[in-house]
Amino acid sequence: MAKIRVRFAPSPTGPMHIGGARSALFNWLFARRYGGEFIVRIEDTDLERSTPEYEEQILATLNWLGLDWDEGIGVGGDHGPYRQKERLQIYHPYTQKLLETGQAYHCYCSEEELEAERQALIAKGQSPRYLGKCRNLSGKEKEERLALTDKPVVRFRVPEGRPVVVDDLIRGLVEFESDGIGDYVIVKSDGIPVYNFAVVLDDALMGITHVLRGEEHLSNTPRQLLLYEALNFPVPKFAHISLILGEDRSKMSKRHGSTSVEQYRQEGYLPEALTNFLALLGWSPEGEEEIFSISELVARFSLERVAKSPAVFNLEKLKWMNFHYLKGMSLEQLTACCIPYLLKAGLLDEGETTERLDWLQQVIATARDGLHYLAEVPALVKVFFGETVELSEDDDEAKDVLALESSPAVMRKFREKALEMEDWSGEEVRQILKELGKELNVKGKALFMTVRVAVSGQSQGRDLIAILTLLGPTVVAQRLEESLRRFPKR
Ligand code: GLU
Repeated sequence: MAKIRVRFAPSPTGPMHIGGARSALFNWLFARRYGGEFIVRIEDTDLERSTPEYEEQILATLNWLGLDWDEGIGVGGDHGPYRQKERLQIYHPYTQKLLETGQAYHCYCSEEELEAERQALIAKGQSPRYLGKCRNLSGKEKEERLALTDKPVVRFRVPEGRPVVVDDLIRGLVEFESDGIGDYVIVKSDGIPVYNFAVVLDDALMGITHVLRGEEHLSNTPRQLLLYEALNFPVPKFAHISLILGEDRSKMSKRHGSTSVEQYRQEGYLPEALTNFLALLGWSPEGEEEIFSISELVARFSLERVAKSPAVFNLEKLKWMNFHYLKGMSLEQLTACCIPYLLKAGLLDEGETTERLDWLQQVIATARDGLHYLAEVPALVKVFFGETVELSEDDDEAKDVLALESSPAVMRKFREKALEMEDWSGEEVRQILKELGKELNVKGKALFMTVRVAVSGQSQGRDLIAILTLLGPTVVAQRLEESLRRFPKR
C-alpha cells in the first residue's frame, strides 16, 4: 500500500474549535498509527475573514496538543507553498484546462439575478441551485453579458442526471444526485478559487491518500468528486467523522461549554486530558477503559472503530479526565502549573513563588482532591493567603456557628494558646484543640467549626489542621482577633 498521507487544513478565520482539534487529532493518530505522514496547510482563500493571528493561534494550539506535522506550514516539504493564497499560480492552469474542455464556463449573472432565481426555487419548494443561465451562451450573448460585468465567475458544468456516490470509510456508500447540485462556482470574480476547487487541487497535488474531516463537509464531497473526475485525478479515500453534539443533542455551541481549545488551555486543562477526551469523541477502543496516553491512542486508533452516530460533548467527563491527569503530576509540577493562576488572582507576588515554594507546595497539596482544572486553584486555596478573613455571605452554617454562645470563648482561648506556642506543627495544633475542648467543655461542631469559620470565614473547605498549620500562629491569632471583633453580634 502507498504511504498514507493525511492532512489538516484549517481556515484561519477564528480560534481552533473542539471539532477542528478532533479532526486534527484523528488525522494525526491515523498517520502515526500506520507510519504515514501528517500535513498541515492553511485554507485562507476567504480573504476577508482569514488573519495571520488566527493562523498563528491555530498552529500554537496544535503544538500545545502535541500534534506535530511532517510537512506543511513552518516545516516545509516538496508540495509547498502550504497556504492557499500563495498557490494561486498553481491553481490557474487547472481553471484554464476546465474552461478549454468546456467542463467549466464563465458566468456573468449578477447578485440580483441569482437571488431572484434562489427565491423562485424556494417558493416552489425546490432546493436553491444555479439553473444554468450562462451555461450555453453563444458568442454574441457572451459579449452582451460582458458589457454588464467584466468580472465573471467560473462555474463547473455539473454532468446531468447521474448519481454521485461518496464511498465513505465510516458511512459506507452515500449517494447524491447530480441534478440537485447545480453548476457551482469554482473561481470567484476576483480570480480566487473557492474551497471546493482549491481543496481538490491541494489534496490531489499533495498526494493526499485519505481525507478525514468533519461530517459537516459531507455535502461538499460530491462537488469535489466531480472535480477529481473532470481533472482525471486519483480519488483519495474519504472518511467523515460524526458531528459533536451538546448533551441536549443539539449541535455543540457555546451554551454547552466553551468551543475553543484555547479557552480550555487558559482554564488549566492539560493537553494530555484534552487529547484523551477528544479521541473518545467519536472513536472508541475495545473494552471499558477510558484513560489513554497519546502513545496508547496511537497504538489503538483505527477508523473501523470510529462511530457513525454523533458524539456527545460531556464537560463533566472532561473535568474528570483532567482531574485524573492533574493527580498524576508530582507536587512540584502541579505547583509550577498553579503559580500563574495564583499570580493572576493576586494571591502571590513573583518573589514569593521562590521564597515560599515549600509552603506553597503544601498549600497546593491541600487542594489536590478538589482540583479539576487549574483556574479553580485560587478559589480553593484563597483561605491560605492574607491576614484578614472574609465571612462568606451565603454561608448560613458559618453564621450559625458564630452565633453560638460558646464561640467567643473558643476564639479567645485558641488565640491565646496559639500565641504561646513555640512549635507549630499539625501535631501541636491538634493538641491545642484537644486541650481547648476539655478546658471549655465544648466539642464537635462547637469547637472545630467555630475555629474553622473564625479563621477561614467558611463552614467548609480544606482540611482544618492543614489550614491552621500552614497559616502559622501569627496569622491564625490575627484572624481570630479580627473575627472576635467583627462576628459575634450579641
Ligand atoms: N478549511 C476547512 C475547515 O476548516 C477544511 C475542510 C477539509 O478538511 O476539507 O473546515
